[in-house]
Amino acid sequence: MADQAFVTLATNDNYAMGAMVLGQSLRRHKTSKKLAALIGPHVSEPCQSVLRRIFDEVRLVDLLDSKDAAHLALMQRPDLGVTFTKLHCWTLTHYSKCVFMDADTLVLSNIDELFDREELSAAPDPGWPDCFNSGVFVFRPSVETYDKLLQYCTEHGSFDGGDQGVLNGFFSNWATADISKHLPFIYNLSSIAIYTYLPAFKRYGSNAKVVHFLGKTKPWSQGLDAKTKEQSSGSTHPSFLLDWWAVYSTSVVPMLKEQYGDQAFHSECVEQAAEGLASAAAALHLSPPPLQPQPSSEERKQKWEQGQADYMGTDSFDNIKRKLDTFLK
Ligand code: UDP
Ligand code: MN
Repeated sequence: MADQAFVTLATNDNYAMGAMVLGQSLRRHKTSKKLAALIGPHVSEPCQSVLRRIFDEVRLVDLLDSKDAAHLALMQRPDLGVTFTKLHCWTLTHYSKCVFMDADTLVLSNIDELFDREELSAAPDPGWPDCFNSGVFVFRPSVETYDKLLQYCTEHGSFDGGDQGVLNGFFSNWATADISKHLPFIYNLSSIAIYTYLPAFKRYGSNAKVVHFLGKTKPWSQGLDAKTKEQSSGSTHPSFLLDWWAVYSTSVVPMLKEQYGDQAFHSECVEQAAEGLASAAAALHLSPPPLQPQPSSEERKQKWEQGQADYMGTDSFDNIKRKLDTFLK
C-alpha cells in the first residue's frame, strides 16, 4: 500500500544510526509499506545519504519555526523541542495511515498487521500501564490533528517533559475507551520490562515482534568501552543487543563505509560493530566458537576478552547466532 508508511525520527547522527538499523530491520522482514524518516538539520550529510538509501522518504523538519503563533509559543518552551519534532509526523498527509516507531526500536518479524489498527493505537508503558508508550503507535496524518496537538502542547505542556506526556494528555481516553487500540506488549517490548518481570519474559519473550531500547543507554552507546560492559549487560537483554549489532554490522556499516569513503571512519565503525557484537556475546557468556585450525581455548578466550574477536571469520555473527540458538534451547 503506497499510502501507508512506517515513520521514524532522528535529530542527530546517533539516533540516525538507530533509524538506519530500524529501517533495515523492517526491510529484512519484508514490509510492504513505505518507510519515512523525519530528520533534524544536525544530521550529517553522509548519514542523510545512507538514510535516503534505506528509506523511501527522508524529510528535513525544522526544530523550531517562528512563522505562526503555535510555533512562537513553543519557542518559549525549548525543552519541548524534540517532542515538537515528533509531532511533525501528523503532517505527512500524503499517507492515509502510519505507524510511528522510535529510532531506538528494532523489528524482529513482519508487523504490517499493525496497519489494521486505528488511531491512536499503542502498547502500555511498563512504568505506568494506564499510559501508552509513545515509542510505537498507529496514527492518521492530519493537519487538523497536528494543529490541535500543537495547541494542546502550548497550553498544557507535557507532564513528563517529552512527547509521551503530550500524547497521553491529548489521547486521554486511551486507557478506557477501546481495547482494540491497546497493542499487545510484544509490539513494544521495552527492554526494562525484561528484568522487572522476568518470569513473564521467559514465558512470552520469544513472541516479541518489536524490542524498544528505552531509557538512557542505547544500543549504539553500549559495548564501545570495555569498562561499561558490566553495566551494559544489565540494562538490556544481551540477545536483543546482539540482534541490533548484527543488523548494524551487516546492513548499515557497509553503507556508511561507502558514504564516508574515509579510512579512519571505516576502521572506527567496523571496530565499533565488532566490539558491540563481542560485548553482547560476552554478556551471554558465550565461549568462542571452534576454530579451524584450533588455537587453545585459553588463547581464544583472551583474544575475545581483549575485544579482538575475529568477527568476520570464526567469531562471525552466524557462528555466534548458532551458539546462541544452542544456548537458548
Ligand atoms: N529523538 C531524537 N533525538 C533526540 C532524542 C530523541 O531524534 O535527541 C527521537 C528518536 O526517534 C527517539 C525518540 O525521539 O527514539 C524518543 O526518544 P528516546 O527513544 O530517547 O526516548 P525513550 O524511548 O528512551 O523514552
Ligand atoms: Mn525510545
